[in-house]
Amino acid sequence: MLNHKRYLVVTAISGFFFLNTFLISASLKCQFCKKNINGRYITQNKSAYHEQCYKDHIQLRCDHCKKVINGKYNINDKENYHQHCYRDFILEKCDVCLNPIENEYVKDVWGNIYHNYHRSSMPLCESCNRLISKNLTDGGYSIKNRSICNICRNHVINDKEDIQKIFYGLRKELLELGMSNIPKNIPVILIDSKEELYRISNIPASDGLQGYTKYNYQTIGRKKINENFTIYILSNLHRLNFRAVLAHEILHVYLFNNDISLKKSLIEGFCNLGSKFVYNSAPESKISELKLESMFINNHPEYGRGFRIMDAELERKGWAVLLKNLENY
Ligand SMILES: [Zn+2]
Ligand SMILES: [Zn+2]
Ligand SMILES: [Zn+2]
Ligand SMILES: [Zn+2]
Ligand SMILES: [Zn+2]
Repeated sequence: MLNHKRYLVVTAISGFFFLNTFLISASLKCQFCKKNINGRYITQNKSAYHEQCYKDHIQLRCDHCKKVINGKYNINDKENYHQHCYRDFILEKCDVCLNPIENEYVKDVWGNIYHNYHRSSMPLCESCNRLISKNLTDGGYSIKNRSICNICRNHVINDKEDIQKIFYGLRKELLELGMSNIPKNIPVILIDSKEELYRISNIPASDGLQGYTKYNYQTIGRKKINENFTIYILSNLHRLNFRAVLAHEILHVYLFNNDISLKKSLIEGFCNLGSKFVYNSAPESKISELKLESMFINNHPEYGRGFRIMDAELERKGWAVLLKNLENY
């Protein structure tokens, strides 16, 4: 989110020195202590003050360093500051370059704030959306035009054994929701580059595509034989993201394998329910929050709108009834 800092710059009005020569009149009183003024005094805004009263009580002082303010100063929350005190001690600091933030800044979901202009020189982590930088993420790495931060690095899925375990775990959870007839073993192949995944999937305008399921079969008459599935998923995805993508793909398998002919415009939306299921099972994670938010504002006709239609149905009816009636949508 883009924000703007607002603060006031004002110029201090200094008093003027006079020497009270009307000793006899004794009519000149200090506005501060209300006693008579004899000798040197200072006026400001048509009021007169003893020199000491003025210095101790009237003259503007910096609320940070407590020293007198002359010239331009900043007002923030009714406190007054020298411009340099304000800049160095009061203004919030950028979490990327550590310098004060004086105007446009970004606040990310993790609570980091930084100058807006860093966004043009540093990439965002594709998993957590943090700006990849020394101070925010201890750096990161890139793979085939994708950027992953070093915080997410410890959570990415690239290992065959991990993938097997995640697949079994998910298959079991989905079975419990009522999705039966999902093969026990489906090869999951990791792909480094998004372009490569687009090429394999042949899905046009698939900007956010992270996974794809290939379905092969032969037919004898009307009967399908030798059915097999291959799931392709981007490598180096954060575990949560990986599980969500895998769940989406397993839902495709569920539809294929059970010959469920859901309306075409609702297929991706239905499969996204698998991703939502995964993110919902980790509600404390900011990554879940980010990904769910983007699913709910996605305006793609299938991945976005189709998803919201299916999600409303799921919320109304629950998994069992939804699965039983899929063909009717
Ligand atoms: Zn006085
Ligand atoms: Zn100061
Ligand atoms: Zn900065
Ligand atoms: Zn990250
Ligand atoms: Zn899909």
